[in-house]
Parts: sequence; structure tokens; C-alpha cells
Amino acid sequence: MKCIICHGDNIQVKEVKEEIFLGNDIVHIPIKIPVCMTCGERYYDRRTMQFLEGIENKISGSELKLKEVGKVLVYDEASSVA
Ligand SMILES: [Zn+2]
Repeated sequence: MKCIICHGDNIQVKEVKEEIFLGNDIVHIPIKIPVCMTCGERYYDRRTMQFLEGIENKISGSELKLKEVGKVLVYDEASSVA
């Protein structure tokens, strides 16, 4: 298998964190997919796509229990000027 982006052949199955955005929140879904080690392109097969879509549907229907592991912070320039 060659990378369709950079044509490199160094593609390895890696655990990556797929991000699903919910308003200001981000849900990390750990998945194992082939990733190009040269340019970072991720390859999703049909099953992985369906798996992620299923999770997205469950999250929006609040059927999933999610654990808070961190916060999303933003540097707000206007409010930090004294
Ligand atoms: Zn590549």
C-alpha cells in the first residue's frame, strides 16, 4: 500500500485519537488505523467510518458515558489586558 498523498510506502497501523467536536468540547476516540509515517495521512476503512459515525450518533443522543480528562482553554487577549 502506497500513500496517495506523498507516495511513500511507510504506512503503519497506529493508535490515533480521532477528534469529534461538540460545540466547544472535543471528544477523543482512540482508534487503530493505518497512518502514513511520512506525511501523517490517515486511512479510514469503511468499518472505521461506520464505527465513528455510530459513536457520533450516540454522543449526540447522550447515550455514551464520557469521562472528562482535560479542558479546552483559549487565550482571550481582550480580557487579560489589565
Ligand atoms: Zn504520505
